[in-house]
Amino acid sequence: MMPTSDDSALLAPADQERPDKPEEACGVFGIYAPAEDVAKLTYFGLYTLQHRGQESAGIATFKDGQIYSHKDMGLVSQVFSEQILQELPGDLAVGHTRYSTTGSSRIVNAQPAIVETRLGPLALTHNGNLVNTAELRDELVEANVELLTTTDSEMIAFAIAGAINEGKAWLEGTISALHRCRGAFSLAIGTPEGVMGVRDPNGVRPLVIGTLEGAAGTPLRYVIASETCALDIIGADYLRDVEPGELVWITEAGLASFHWAAQPQRKLCIFEMIYFARPDSIVHDESLYSYRLRIGRQLAIESTVEVDLVMGVPDSGIPAAIGFSQQSKIPYAEGLIKNRYVGRTFIQPTQTMRESGIRMKLNPLKDVLVGKRILIVDDSLVRGTTSRKIVKALRDAGAVEVHMRISSPPVTHPCFYGIDTDSQDQLIAATKSVEEIAEQIGVDSLAYLSWEGMLSATGENPEHFCSACFTGDYPIPVPEQVKRSKLVLEKQPVSTSA
Ligand code: SF4
Repeated sequence: MMPTSDDSALLAPADQERPDKPEEACGVFGIYAPAEDVAKLTYFGLYTLQHRGQESAGIATFKDGQIYSHKDMGLVSQVFSEQILQELPGDLAVGHTRYSTTGSSRIVNAQPAIVETRLGPLALTHNGNLVNTAELRDELVEANVELLTTTDSEMIAFAIAGAINEGKAWLEGTISALHRCRGAFSLAIGTPEGVMGVRDPNGVRPLVIGTLEGAAGTPLRYVIASETCALDIIGADYLRDVEPGELVWITEAGLASFHWAAQPQRKLCIFEMIYFARPDSIVHDESLYSYRLRIGRQLAIESTVEVDLVMGVPDSGIPAAIGFSQQSKIPYAEGLIKNRYVGRTFIQPTQTMRESGIRMKLNPLKDVLVGKRILIVDDSLVRGTTSRKIVKALRDAGAVEVHMRISSPPVTHPCFYGIDTDSQDQLIAATKSVEEIAEQIGVDSLAYLSWEGMLSATGENPEHFCSACFTGDYPIPVPEQVKRSKLVLEKQPVSTSA
């Protein structure tokens, strides 16, 4: 996929395959709105969730017991045309934008995952990652299920289909299958009868419910989506979050709620707050832009320095940079201009371009930078490769000092819940001290936001978040064989000092 925001800044095309940020893994959308153009509404919802996955996109609609679907590799705007959308009639729909690693970036793995059941077709969209995939796969294979793809999402769909084919109804069958799944999963599931929205018992990935007004006297229509920005675009009003361990079943009868998990315990991914979700999405009754301003202010309280200008790495570092400037009273300036129309390019740069440092996405503003001491804010630092290029570009443009502040703590552990992070030995903060990282990326000083500062700025109970990539304290147990694939430093001392 392409990086979710600006992580490939200054990278040559060949380097764009490995952006310097954790990579998001999908946006989901579902709508129950008879008499509306549900395919088109889903298209616009997905269009807004594009930042959550840019590898493939898909929509499935249901009409009179029939399923209609289209999915393909590429951006939402590339996968769908007016004509394709017109061929997707329905009263309800689900849709998906997908990120995948290179190995599984195939059309067969694009979602919705569609399976047949004795009650009709089922279309499942998933954001997150199961941690018991191997166990579930073995169970399904033993039950003679012929898996068509390599995704855990398809396994959930087959688990539901299996329960239904044993004689259970939609709701009962889905809940019984959910009990076989462990890990992070926010799901939007389409069936001929209605749409389901599901969150895992920890609510690691977000999922919200919205309502859409119809003509006077008609019942409310419901929408579910990964983020509230997908409600805004279609004119839906935010109603509430799907709760951890909740299933909402939206049918002709309205919205019904079922708390299917015995012991739900909220553990929202803190990285959704810091970076993944769009700044205009609402979490805990405020926009993430407001949270990101606040962590910028907190960062200034914790680690200010005497400089002439504060700037953010566009776009995701900007709210925290503005907050830093507000708190420190150091003027804010834009010193890097982003080319917003860059997509993936497969054309290799010339050697001369490589050596001169190709600026694919960010270009420094020389007259702002020359002779200035700069403090640049970014939301996270994973491998440090992009940061090094940004710092060099700022210095080449005339900055006399470059200091970096990161509005999250050092990432020292990989994610197993749906975010594609490197194995531990590739995470720069897992193997190097802050001073060593500063030297490697070439800054005059480097500081990270504290873990306490990041969580206290949420204004919520810190226990309600997963922050395992900063601490190694995984809220959902990860099986040893899964852990081994990424946790290569477990027995070595790890520097987490900020
Ligand atoms: S490990 Fe990190 S990226 Fe993964 S869910 Fe937890 S906080 Fe989010």
